[in-house]
Amino acid sequence: MVTGSIRLFVETGLAAGAELAGAEAQAHYLASVMRRSVGDTVKLFNGRDGEWRARIVELSRKKVLFAPQILLRGQAQEPDCWLCFALLKRNKTDLVVEKATELGVSRILPVITARTQADHVNLDRLRAIAIEAAEQCERLAVPQIAAPVTLPALLAAWPAGRRLFMADERRDSKLARFTSDPAALLIGPEGGFTDAEVAAIGADQNVTRVSLGARILRAETAAIAGLALLLAGDPPEE
Ligand code: SAM
Repeated sequence: MVTGSIRLFVETGLAAGAELAGAEAQAHYLASVMRRSVGDTVKLFNGRDGEWRARIVELSRKKVLFAPQILLRGQAQEPDCWLCFALLKRNKTDLVVEKATELGVSRILPVITARTQADHVNLDRLRAIAIEAAEQCERLAVPQIAAPVTLPALLAAWPAGRRLFMADERRDSKLARFTSDPAALLIGPEGGFTDAEVAAIGADQNVTRVSLGARILRAETAAIAGLALLLAGDPPEE
């Protein structure tokens, strides 16, 4: 029997003894890729019920059944921090979603701006990337990924009480590490925000414009650096 460190995200509720079916892709992964068998254990999480050690009770290339046995970690509160980023080309957008998930964001909002390089995304693919990153980095939840919105729509619907930190390469004020929750980081497109966009964002009372340092970072680097600064204070679980 292999007691594994394989972590899998499931949509279903998790409770002791309540058998649940995994996805066909998970069956293929366990049976054909990881060569697991009935009796082996894996870790399951669903973003609500914590992390469980579960035994494989049935396994074929197309079907897997799990029996949750032991609660390993209760569902701890994760930081409430959003990433709003101007859509990038596919591979860079994928990278931003993966890294933002590893860094601990709770929600990812792709934004369409005047100089955005793309105007649509495959949300299923981004969700699969976020699930795999959450499985790998041992998070207990997968960030929600919203459908792309335009910048004016994002600002118009912005929830009061959530501070929006706009990464602005034209500013000299440093990004303060802060403890207040909830928060969000806004990253511009590779070509930058237009003057009109900067004026509209700057006029919004929920916004604080911040610098990420003296160098002009690529958008994906700015997203990763900004989130690392914002979430660096996120203490490890007790
Ligand atoms: N407008 C710039 C240009 O082309 O000259 C560059 C835009 S930069 C590649 C993409 C985005 O990353 C910016 O809109 C900003 O949100 C963020 N960014 C890059 N470097 C930054 C810095 N040093 N401080 C704050 N934000 C930065």
